[in-house]
Amino acid sequence: MKTFNIAALAGDGIGPEVMREAIKVLRATEKKFGFKLEMTEAPVGWAGIDAAGKALPDATLALCKKSDSILFGSVGLPDRDPTIPREERPERAALLRIRKEFGLFANLRPVKLPKALAHACPLAKERQGDGIDILVVRELTGGMYFGQPKKTEDIGGRNFRAIDTMVYTTPEIERIAHVAFKAAQLRRKKLTSIDKANVLENGILWRETVTRVGKNYPDVTLDHMFVDNGAMQLMLKPTQFDVMLCENMFGDILSDEAAALGGSLGMLPSASLGATTGGSTFGFYEPAGGTAPDIAGKNLANPIAQILSAALMLRHSFGLNDAAAAIEKAVAKAIEAGNRTGDIFNPNEANARRIGTREMGDAIAAAI
Ligand code: NAD
Repeated sequence: MKTFNIAALAGDGIGPEVMREAIKVLRATEKKFGFKLEMTEAPVGWAGIDAAGKALPDATLALCKKSDSILFGSVGLPDRDPTIPREERPERAALLRIRKEFGLFANLRPVKLPKALAHACPLAKERQGDGIDILVVRELTGGMYFGQPKKTEDIGGRNFRAIDTMVYTTPEIERIAHVAFKAAQLRRKKLTSIDKANVLENGILWRETVTRVGKNYPDVTLDHMFVDNGAMQLMLKPTQFDVMLCENMFGDILSDEAAALGGSLGMLPSASLGATTGGSTFGFYEPAGGTAPDIAGKNLANPIAQILSAALMLRHSFGLNDAAAAIEKAVAKAIEAGNRTGDIFNPNEANARRIGTREMGDAIAAAI
């Protein structure tokens, strides 16, 4: 039987509650589809500091290194010790360290708004069509956020000049383009590449490179859109998009814009992928939201973001597409049946039932 090793790092706040439900749902798919998931839990974030004095304890990092992927909750508690240096705080010491350690260069942020949750979306119903279903693929390690030189110079007279540099190489664009085309092949086979080729040298290289990579994927329809238009089209007609491919900064902005269409932070999963070696891709899977300290420990959190992150892991790291689709269908079924955590509950919905974290996990696991 195929076995996959998963480091399950729940972290802080609602992390442990939503992780428990994701594990429950993964166990249900394991039974149904006949594979084995070796899930080992380890502390991270403030839980890591409490257990071993470090946000990313050595033993947790060692576990990640021998695992096939990481299923992550969230880290950070704003009210805990404000005197701890910034580099040692969980958001930096755990998250940034993991991103660097595992060379995570591709960020996948799917946004799916089921029809039944139309009320939770800020767009008018007629703009939502049959439901919004977009995947934003963002390059995560290049572009303006990392390019050199990056500095602020004193130019005299109490004036300064700040310099950030946008840099991309052909191989960097090629590898993220391959990720996006492969993801499109598993969806509706449409890719919109976002750039600013009318103004930026980077945009021209981006467009030429993505077009060339696209020749390897004749089953995927490719079009190009300037980023300013892309931002506008997301509001005007989000249903036109399947996969949106963006460089780092454009993806940072557009993925949050798209996320706002998804109804609730509690519904949004994400994946960060590293290189593919020997046919398998190391990935880091986490909800888009944080530790939600305001609702932690009360059985109020929506576990769907964590559960859908687990589905992304099955698809992108383990190639278990049927099992991933089964989880996504089970989530849709649980929603259609009227199950709602507080963040997606609307008292005016006729068949809606307000339930807790655990009950939502149960409903999804049962629907598998
Ligand atoms: P947050 O995402 O934790 O919460 C924002 C709002 O969304 C809150 O009202 C919260 O209740 C709600 N929310 C989030 N997830 C939800 C869910 N699953 N179900 C229902 N409601 C949900 O953001 P914040 O309050 O700005 O940050 C809290 C802490 O989380 C901070 O320490 C921050 O640094 C950390 N954080 C961590 C990550 C991460 O680990 N990747 C990401 C974002 C924030």
